[in-house]
Parts: sequence; structure tokens; C-alpha cells
Amino acid sequence: MTQAIIIGSGIGGLAASIRLARRGIRVDVYESAENAGGKISERNFNGFRFDAGPSLLTLPELLFELLDDDLRFPVQKTKIITKYFYPDGTQILAFSDVEKLTAEIEEKLNVPADKLNAYLRKAATVYELTSDLFIFGSFHRLKNLLNLKSLKTLLQFRKLHAFQSLHEFNTSELGEKRLVQLFDRYATYNGSNPYQTPATLSVISHLEHKLGAYLPEGGMFQITESLLKQALRLGVKFHFGQAVRKVDVSNGKVNGILLDSGFVPADIVVSDVDIHSFYSSLLPDKKRLSKIKKEERSSSALIFYWGMKGNFPELDIHNIFFSSDYKEEFRQLFQLNEVSNDPTVYIYISSKYNPADAPDGCENWFVMINAPANVGQNWNEIIERTRLNILQKLERMLGKQLKNCIAAEQILSPPEIFKQTGSVNGSIYGSSSNSRYASFNRHANFRSDIDGLYFVGGSVHPGGGIPLCLSSAKIVDGLVKEYLK
Ligand SMILES: Cc1cc2nc3c(=O)[nH]c(=O)nc-3n(C[C@H](O)[C@H](O)[C@H](O)COP(=O)(O)OP(=O)(O)OC[C@H]3O[C@@H](n4cnc5c(N)ncnc54)[C@H](O)[C@@H]3O)c2cc1C
Repeated sequence: MTQAIIIGSGIGGLAASIRLARRGIRVDVYESAENAGGKISERNFNGFRFDAGPSLLTLPELLFELLDDDLRFPVQKTKIITKYFYPDGTQILAFSDVEKLTAEIEEKLNVPADKLNAYLRKAATVYELTSDLFIFGSFHRLKNLLNLKSLKTLLQFRKLHAFQSLHEFNTSELGEKRLVQLFDRYATYNGSNPYQTPATLSVISHLEHKLGAYLPEGGMFQITESLLKQALRLGVKFHFGQAVRKVDVSNGKVNGILLDSGFVPADIVVSDVDIHSFYSSLLPDKKRLSKIKKEERSSSALIFYWGMKGNFPELDIHNIFFSSDYKEEFRQLFQLNEVSNDPTVYIYISSKYNPADAPDGCENWFVMINAPANVGQNWNEIIERTRLNILQKLERMLGKQLKNCIAAEQILSPPEIFKQTGSVNGSIYGSSSNSRYASFNRHANFRSDIDGLYFVGGSVHPGGGIPLCLSSAKIVDGLVKEYLK
């Protein structure tokens, strides 16, 4: 029987374990942490439950195709995807229903519905042209490039708007400053800078507004729990608290892995580890590492998990409080590796749809700002200063005293993201998409010179975020199928 080893049990690793086990392969997962899920974890304290990482699910079908019927959990399509608060007092409800959304934008910002509809149609075209080759497939295989659909994409390359930044594209298509800021924000969904990332990333707004944004009943952590149950049901063996130290390779073939306790042989090794860390420690390779280091790291996050006394009907499940100078905020984030004194603040309150997440009369606030990758900043100082700035900003914009409502608190900073998941510099999505070539430079899901070695997860093709990590596992499954033939 073929033996596969998966290194890491983030969503990419879990999905790969299920797919390979279904193929009749014996699968062992080695995970350095004491539990599964990587970034998709939860926190429980003082009667509050928090989704610790992701707070929104797109393309849920990629998840459900992995699960037996009884393990599929109900998901709710969010009616209001995000409630936006602007410094000038404007509030916008980003309805998932496009007609309602365009009506809201027309009423609040005086932008005709036709304009936004035209924008969303262009984003849909980007999705149609890129999804097979850049999201669900691997352009690193020549045969995937040499087919009619890929040729069509290449011939229509200008429709991908790859030569404009997302901000330039949004400005020329939408014009209105606040609407531009709203659509610029999608760059942050993979840790990038809207003033640098190519406008191809407008595809993310299509995923959210046209294909839908979802929340699992019971919280995002359901995703990890169900995938883990499915993998165990298929006979996958998990070894928690066991960090893989090295991958053993010789004569162009993978032989297995090295743990502190010794060598474990395998025919196939799938790494779900940040690719930067893979080439610096698991399979040291100066040339590949230096190529990865040339790519700018994606942003990280600073998160305050606040157990709040009181109910806040003025807030929705997902809320954004914009900064007054978005360009300056990103300059500080990417060019200066600093946190702005006026950061855009994101608040996710799962207890609004899942009341068990907070005690009666309370809410669980996941308060997040984009933070720079960790390059040795003084995080204690940043945390203290930013906490104060966030509180002052929210109190001003909501016209409410909040400081005394915080009944319980935990904090997650970039150095801890690294400690918990091995993501180098605490960057959430590996390298950023701040250059036109970023998606081409992202590591492939395989090595053409090493048989049996594969890569999944947010730091390799097609990139970060739940659906893309799930896609990486699907691509690897296809490659393993070919390999075993
Ligand atoms: C705060 C935050 C908010 C986010 N919001 C969203 C969102 O709303 N929607 C969305 O789609 N995505 C979101 N994401 C991104 C998403 O969570 C990630 O892209 C995805 O979960 C990454 O999965 P992964 O497979 O790359 O593995 P990871 O989650 O990075 O896990 C890697 C695993 O490998 C293990 N490991 C590392 N080194 C070793 C070793 N040597 N040996 C053994 N094990 C090892 C680690 O312990 C870890 O468990 C968010 C992420 C964060 C942090």
C-alpha cells in the first residue's frame, strides 16, 4: 500500500489527507501543534467563544465535496456581507443581493447602479478567464497551458487588468472615493496593498458579491472539526505535537521525513508548511529560498478578542471602520512596516448569529487590524498604542463609551501567529500579491525534479485563503493520481 505523509494539519493538509485517503493511500499527518486546523482555530475564555482566524467562507462547495453527507454542516449565506463605517459618518450596508447593494450605493453615494453593475461584470469576466488556470488548475503544467481555454485567457489578457493597480482600476471604473475604498479593501483578503496589487484581484469582489459569502452554523471552527472527523473516519492517522525536522530526498525521489524520534519512510510527502520555512529548514535550498525572499511578504494581523458586556445593535456580524487616509495606511504597512495611528478596524461578532458564543447580554468582538509582517518591531509598544487608538476611534465613530464594556480580553500579534502556525514573519498569506508577477512566482504544488514531493496551503499556488488552500489540495490529488499511474 502506498504510504503518504502530510506535514501540517492546516486546511490544506487536512483536505489533502482526505483526498489521498479516499484514493486508497495510507496517510499519516504529522503536526507540530497539539491540535489540528492551523490558522482555523478557536479560543474559549470567560464564557466567550471566538473564531480565532478566518471569519468568512467563500466557495463552500470546495469544502463540502470533501465531506460525507452527515458531516456537512449548515451554512448561512450572509444577507449583509459587511457594514461599512466611514470617518465622515457615512454608513453603507454591503448587501449580498446585488440589486439591494446597487440601490444602497445609489442612495448613499449617488453612484448609478449601472456603474457598479458594469464593474461587477468586469470582475466576473476576470473570474471566468482566470479560474481554471489560476485558481482551480496549475499553470505550471505545460499541458494545462496548451489548451483552448488557456489560449482564450491569454488572448484576452488585457481583460485581466494586470497592468493597472487595483486602486487605479477602481478609481477609473467607480470614481467615488468611498466606493473606491470599499473595493480597494479586497486587496487585503490576501494580505496585499491595493495601490500595488494588479487589478486582477477585483476577482475577489466577484467571489463575495456574486458567488456569495457564507458563515457555518456554530462558527468557522466547524470547518476544522468536520474535516478532522472526515479524515479520521477514512483512517488517516494524526501525530500531534510532532514537528517534522527534515524531508529526506535522494536520487530525485522523496524517501520520507525525519522527526526528533527518527526516520519515517514514505512514498509521498505533502508539505502544508509555509514554503519559506520549508526551504530554510525542512529541505534547505539557498537558491529557492532567495527567490522566495525576493517576494514581499503579505501583511499579518493584530487581533484583540474582546468579550463585551452589552448589546450593540448598531453593529452587524462583519463591520469595517475605515481610516481617513487609506493610501497612507498602506504606505506605513508595507513601506515602513508600521501600524498607522488611524488603522482601518474590522470587527466580527459571531454571537450575533450564534448566540451561544457569548453569555446573555454580551457579545464576542473579534477586533482586527492589518499589521505589517514581523521584522522585529516593538510589539508591546504597538499593541498598547494601537489598543488605545482603536478604542478612541470606535468610541468616536459609534458615539459610545466602550472601554469599560471589555469584560475579557486576549490578543494575537504577528510573532504569535508565527509561533502557532509556522508562518514566517507572521505573514498570513505567505508572499503578498503586490507585484504583477506574484502569482507566477508563487511556488508550484510539485517539484518536477523530485518525485513524490508535493505542496499545499496558503504560501504556494494558487495562494492564501480557505478556497485557494482547498484548491491546492485538489490540484495535488490530481498530480498524485497521475504519479501513481
Ligand atoms: C486572522 C486571520 C483571518 C483570516 N481570515 C480569512 C477569511 O475570512 N477567509 C478566508 O478564506 N481565509 C482567511 N484567512 C486565511 C486562512 O486562514 C489561511 O489561508 C488558511 O487557513 C491557511 O491554511 P494552510 O493550509 O496554509 O495551513 P496553516 O493554517 O498555515 O497551518 C499550517 C500547519 O502546519 C503546521 N506546521 C508548520 N511547520 C510544521 C512542521 N515542521 N512539522 C509539523 N507541522 C508543522 C503548523 O503547526 C500548522 O498547524 C485568515 C487567516 C488569519 C490568520
